[in-house]
Amino acid sequence: MKIDKLCPYPWLQLSVEPNGNLRFCCYGESGKDLQDQNGKLISINDVNTVEEVLNHPSYKSIRLAMSNQQYPDFCNTCLRIEKNGGESPRTAQIPLYQNEFLEQVKSMQTDGSVELRLHTLELTLGNICNLKCRMCSPFFSTLLKSDFDQMNFDYNKEEVSQIESFWQMNEELNPFLRDALSNIKRVNFLGGEPLLAPVHSKILKFLIDQKRSSEVTLFYNTNLTIVSQNTLDLWSQFKKVHLDVSLEGKAEINDYIRKGSDFKKIDRNIELVKSTLGNKVEFNICTVLQALNFEHIPQWLDFLLTWKSYIPKLPNFIYLDFPSYLSAKILAPKHREPIIKILRNKIAEYQLLKLSDIEKISLRGLIGFLDDLESAKWDEKGYLDFVVFNKKLDKFRQEQAPKVKYS
Ligand code: SF4
Repeated sequence: MKIDKLCPYPWLQLSVEPNGNLRFCCYGESGKDLQDQNGKLISINDVNTVEEVLNHPSYKSIRLAMSNQQYPDFCNTCLRIEKNGGESPRTAQIPLYQNEFLEQVKSMQTDGSVELRLHTLELTLGNICNLKCRMCSPFFSTLLKSDFDQMNFDYNKEEVSQIESFWQMNEELNPFLRDALSNIKRVNFLGGEPLLAPVHSKILKFLIDQKRSSEVTLFYNTNLTIVSQNTLDLWSQFKKVHLDVSLEGKAEINDYIRKGSDFKKIDRNIELVKSTLGNKVEFNICTVLQALNFEHIPQWLDFLLTWKSYIPKLPNFIYLDFPSYLSAKILAPKHREPIIKILRNKIAEYQLLKLSDIEKISLRGLIGFLDDLESAKWDEKGYLDFVVFNKKLDKFRQEQAPKVKYS
């Protein structure tokens, strides 16, 4: 069986939602959560071992379906990107797993079960966060909750309180986490801001105590506004640390979109981590491409080209679809077309450069996104919602969007 037609996640990764429920992957649309026969969502407190999850009937049937090229509905995001010729989370992940993926696929039995070769555990450590980004929600930021409440913005309060309480009540590692961490090769930490979650350092200490840290790579989606000496000491004992640092553009636009962020401080923290960990650390910049920063992206790319030699020249773009009123599709064609043209010229320049694999993946993703955006209808209603939302937030926060300056 050819692995390029499959997705590594159902074979090699387990992913945990901020409320402790298990899901097939962190991308995808609704229906990605793992359920028992009665339709009840399965939490990491309901299971004790990796085997119960990795060879759960739902996992087995998803593997068999994917092997027959029948992807579940929650994979539509990936399928849509691929149909447009872009780089989906699925296609981007395949080269990162390669041999392990191949071996795991070969081990699959006729009922869809596999050997217990869990590679990656992805943990969303709740919603504790010190920032209030415009495109975020109380599901991922405790601070945003008070803004939403004061401005009467709607959100599911019950779900948010479940998220808030889950990791507070599960600061000690439960049997499932202990079992999963005992053989893991990579842990992906998501948040909120994972470096602020109390359970985060407990997980690292557990891996160190188990004498596993030198075999484990740590991946983070982090705002990197805060790095303690304790975190640096723990990281120094691991095989590798990979930081996807969230930045939405140069200082002015980043600090506007990511309220509470401080570009200069993040710059200093990147230098601090690099000087402490040396070659053990890898960085990538993660940029959510959205209506608010779309016009600034050409300048952002120019900046990254010369910023730091150890930082990729292209960010890992996340293409915002939700909330739809912040998507780049709300920009009228007369506003988006000149930027698309500038970006296409830049892409042609990048294609002449020697790029790393990760940069090539980002470039393919950007090409697919621009093709999609160019053919997308103008979301006029979304534009009006965008104006209302940002005006309200600007007034509340007493700030103004930075203007684009073309040099
Ligand atoms: S195909 Fe995409 S959405 Fe589906 S499991 Fe893989 S990465 Fe997730």
